[in-house]
Amino acid sequence: MSQEVTVLLIEDEPEIRRFLRTTLPAHGFRLYEAATGKDGLTEAQARNPDLILLDLGLPDLEGSEVIRQVREWTATPIIVLSARDQEQVKVGALDLGADDYVTKPFGVDELLARMRAALRHASRSAADVGEPVFTLGDLKVDLGRRQVFVSAKEIHLTPIEYKLLTTLIRYAGKVMTHRQLLKEVWGPLHVEEGHYLRVYMRQLRNKLEKNPAHPRYLVTELGVGYRLRTE
Ligand code: CA
Repeated sequence: MSQEVTVLLIEDEPEIRRFLRTTLPAHGFRLYEAATGKDGLTEAQARNPDLILLDLGLPDLEGSEVIRQVREWTATPIIVLSARDQEQVKVGALDLGADDYVTKPFGVDELLARMRAALRHASRSAADVGEPVFTLGDLKVDLGRRQVFVSAKEIHLTPIEYKLLTTLIRYAGKVMTHRQLLKEVWGPLHVEEGHYLRVYMRQLRNKLEKNPAHPRYLVTELGVGYRLRTE
């Protein structure tokens, strides 16, 4: 990384803080820490970090409250650290504006991949320039010409399939909740129509994936939504 990236960790568990205190600086990140939600909000305002790692189980504030307050003034990426079996909490955090989550216990490679994706997406949104051509393995999408190729063979997509795919490309690497995808592709009146999404995701996988039952690109985040892989 050419420039040091600042990260604020809001987490009350000392072991996780200790773990990240050694691993993140070794990968070029400057780490700030807070052990409570209140301190986290103060630190966020004081440091204006490039990225926030937020534990959802804090002693004083609900994680959702921290997200809501941070989102009042900044779009800085927030990655939620959550316990297993907290699908509803994760979905709620994403709907409130968190960018992604990792489930504890997580490995450093997984966390770094999510952080890179969130930072990439944040810089892309800030510059407001999309990649004209998106490639991933044997998949190639020419966004300017609206053409989709798998292994150099052109694939015909319906308008909804194309919109679903390009929405996932816009947020590539990041998990999108069912509601977020329904809102972006079908519009805000259709956020409860989960079956639309299942049907079109199946069609899209049939057209783009070698083995649609075990997708490589369009992956399911169980109970939460979908993610387009980037690596
Ligand atoms: Ca905790």
